[in-house]
Amino acid sequence: MNKIIECERMYGAQNYQPLPVVLTRGEGVYVWDDANNRYIDMMSAYSAVSHGHCHPRLVRVLTEQAQTLAVVSRAFYTDKLGVFLQRICELTGQEKALPMNTGAEAVETALKAARKWAYTVKGVSQDQAEIIVCHGNFHGRTIAIVGMSSEQQYRSGFGPFPPGFKQIAYGDAAELERAITPNTAAFLVEPIQGESGIMVPPPGYLKACAEICKKHNVLLICDEIQTGLGRTGKLLASQHDNVKPDGLVLGKALGGGLLPVSLFLSRKDVMDVFTPGDHGSTFGGNPLAAAVGLAAIDVLIEDNLITRSAELGEYLLQRLKELKSPLITDVRGKGLMIGVEIHPRYSARTLCLKLLKQGVLTKETHGTVIRLAPPLVITKEQLDVVLMAMKHVLAEAEQETSGAIDQV
Ligand SMILES: *Cc1c(COP(=O)(O)O)cnc(C)c1O
Repeated sequence: MNKIIECERMYGAQNYQPLPVVLTRGEGVYVWDDANNRYIDMMSAYSAVSHGHCHPRLVRVLTEQAQTLAVVSRAFYTDKLGVFLQRICELTGQEKALPMNTGAEAVETALKAARKWAYTVKGVSQDQAEIIVCHGNFHGRTIAIVGMSSEQQYRSGFGPFPPGFKQIAYGDAAELERAITPNTAAFLVEPIQGESGIMVPPPGYLKACAEICKKHNVLLICDEIQTGLGRTGKLLASQHDNVKPDGLVLGKALGGGLLPVSLFLSRKDVMDVFTPGDHGSTFGGNPLAAAVGLAAIDVLIEDNLITRSAELGEYLLQRLKELKSPLITDVRGKGLMIGVEIHPRYSARTLCLKLLKQGVLTKETHGTVIRLAPPLVITKEQLDVVLMAMKHVLAEAEQETSGAIDQV
């Protein structure tokens, strides 16, 4: 076995099962391995690398800020944080933002805000607040968050979990209304479920949820850590339904592929429940992160990455639908967030290993879905290379299974 892989396996916890490739360098949509083979990255670190690897302008901002002032904690003001928060608030139509680092931390922030808002604004009795989440959700890996998960593997062995969460089916607005009680603080939802296999709800779902939440004085909080910042062809996936949520969680691409940067954003009356000492993070909002976050937003807008995502996403989706392989049971997604569902009798991981050999990096999710979510800077020509590789590996796989899978 490769020595580098052996070393990581020897000293690292086995909480991941990476594909057997050692990456050493990246530029734009490309990454290179330790033998200098080049790959197209169709994973982009689950959307964290929407700007492409080592974006030159972002690297410049990072480097200059690192040489100027990097970390001071929130005990002091810096010249970088306010402008960053103003820019993202104005862009998303939210009134206030609270900076954290990872997505999970920003989700925890949203949960704390929702609960305290329920007690201090809505008037829910102490310790009675409920938060509604969806079956198949993914909001991160802390104990509270895996406690809200429907995924056995995420939860198993990690209990007990904090109470106060209720799970409903994803995509069914009527069920949301039935689940709401006077103690409901918030409904936390992904506009498209990413980790559970790029699950796109019926059109109008989020709009209906927003109306129900408004009617019952429940906060609609959208987790757009993965779907946000252009991934689905709009700045926010909630905009496909013309919805402005009461709370919004961003992360991943906000760090420009260089740093963990996340935010919880909301209306003023929600954010104002936090008073000094209530909540915080040593690294959250540091000037290095704020400078990179601001530049990441500027690049997204100025380089038209959102329009690219919409147009190229539509192109990729259509071409994938035309592949018509008996191994493909569904192709779905919005913008450059696409899932290709593979027939359960063939392993999606094996297909990913075959794609790796063809110079295309991706990873299956939930055993049956191949995720195609490249950096938004990808070109049509590069997508054509990926489509050729897909065609090739599907033909290979079809041959291996000839007769075993019925033509659909
Ligand atoms: C990735 C993700 C998270 C967690 O973000 P981390 O930075 O890994 O903590 C939360 N919600 C969604 C929708 C995600 O895709």
